[in-house]
Amino acid sequence: MFKKILIANRGEIALRVQRACRELGIKAVVVYSEADREAKYVKLADEAVCIGPAPSAQSYLNMPAIISAAEVTDAEAIHPGYGFLSENADFAERVEKSGFVFIGPSPESIRLMGDKVSAKQAMKAAGVPTVPGSDGALPDDPAEIKRIARAIGYPVIIKAAGGGGGRGMRVVHTEAALLHAVQTTKSEAAAAFNNPEVYMEKFLQNPRHIEIQVLADQHRNAVYLFERDCSMQRRHQKVIEEAPAPGIARRLIDRIGERCAAACKKIGYRGAGTFEFLYENGEFYFIEMNTRVQVEHPVTEMITGVDIVRQQILIAAGEKLPFTQRQIQLRGHAIECRLNAEHPYTFTPSPGRITAWHAPGGPGVRVDSHIYAGYCVPPNYDSMIGKIIVHGDTREQALARMRGALAEVVIEGIQTNVPLHRELMVDANFEAGGTNIHYLESWLAQRERG
Ligand code: ADP
Repeated sequence: MFKKILIANRGEIALRVQRACRELGIKAVVVYSEADREAKYVKLADEAVCIGPAPSAQSYLNMPAIISAAEVTDAEAIHPGYGFLSENADFAERVEKSGFVFIGPSPESIRLMGDKVSAKQAMKAAGVPTVPGSDGALPDDPAEIKRIARAIGYPVIIKAAGGGGGRGMRVVHTEAALLHAVQTTKSEAAAAFNNPEVYMEKFLQNPRHIEIQVLADQHRNAVYLFERDCSMQRRHQKVIEEAPAPGIARRLIDRIGERCAAACKKIGYRGAGTFEFLYENGEFYFIEMNTRVQVEHPVTEMITGVDIVRQQILIAAGEKLPFTQRQIQLRGHAIECRLNAEHPYTFTPSPGRITAWHAPGGPGVRVDSHIYAGYCVPPNYDSMIGKIIVHGDTREQALARMRGALAEVVIEGIQTNVPLHRELMVDANFEAGGTNIHYLESWLAQRERG
């Protein structure tokens, strides 16, 4: 087992990984930017190395700085968390070439899945159902683009092959708007992802976002840890996640889960990963794979009892999965609310000093957050400041526990989306379960109209 791991991330996930290290008796090194100097997890770490000024490009995305931090601290492995360099194949490669273990899949797997076009093709070949769409990247010929859209049928969605984080997507309803949308998405993709390639998919009207968590070791074992429903989204970004997905038959989940596990074996995948699907009328359509731990991993941990971050570390160290598919039991229901430092209804970021913080607690309540009273949320990074996760024997109990937790939580000094969560937890449609990916946007629009 590793003696020391470097955590190449910040915020709640840096703390989450540090906790897993501590439990395993592994020393944790954190790297931090000048903006995160005062973070508590930085002080709690066994060692901490400043890797640069606040802007991510000069710190959390600064590969040479991170690798030299691993060198000077004698770390053996690097955990990338999520975001930043976690899905950067070049980084994984440089980590390995420098003699460290990358806690994640091989650079080849990251590269394959990082390009959504090649990911879709690989999954299709592995027998995973995908969204109907262009066969690979779109050509330059306008007539050909129009022909492809007509064959798919409007509305269509233009997506950047290198896109992520809900960016680089554009819905097109009519042929008149098509070529302009393709051009704009292309130029945006070139600027944002350094890859102008775009592809086209059928725009599904009312799908749900259902994803399958997988774990695969280096000995050709792969399992799926059931599903998460992440349909509650704004601007293609998740706000609430839950597991299991309300109202979907277990046999459908098992069938798609088995395909995902089989696909992992087929492509030689290792580590934790998530297959994201849109689900409509009883069918699953693969959209992309995330080759890292996800923000919403705790809901799966709560219903399975599997510590996903611990497993990532054990897999990277070469250990075999300690369970078979049959040994993984689904118990109860879990819900996660992401806490964001932002205006609850307009989503304008609200960085600044937190003057009061009272974390909720009680049976089945888990809080993953690095914040504390007096902590200053820097303006430089993502607005997420933590997560409240609850578990109950039933969905009703989980909902009741989340309502209780949200009633208890106090965050003062900055604006947060806690009021939004409080309203959604008593919304009749969310309570009924199974709302689609457009629900939150239309709920917000209706709220605005009064
Ligand atoms: P990203 O990598 O940026 O998260 P995804 O491909 O995972 O991009 O898509 C993010 C979200 O965008 C989905 O959860 C869904 O809400 C929406 N979306 C993507 N593709 C489609 C589609 N073909 N039809 C309808 N909505 C889609």
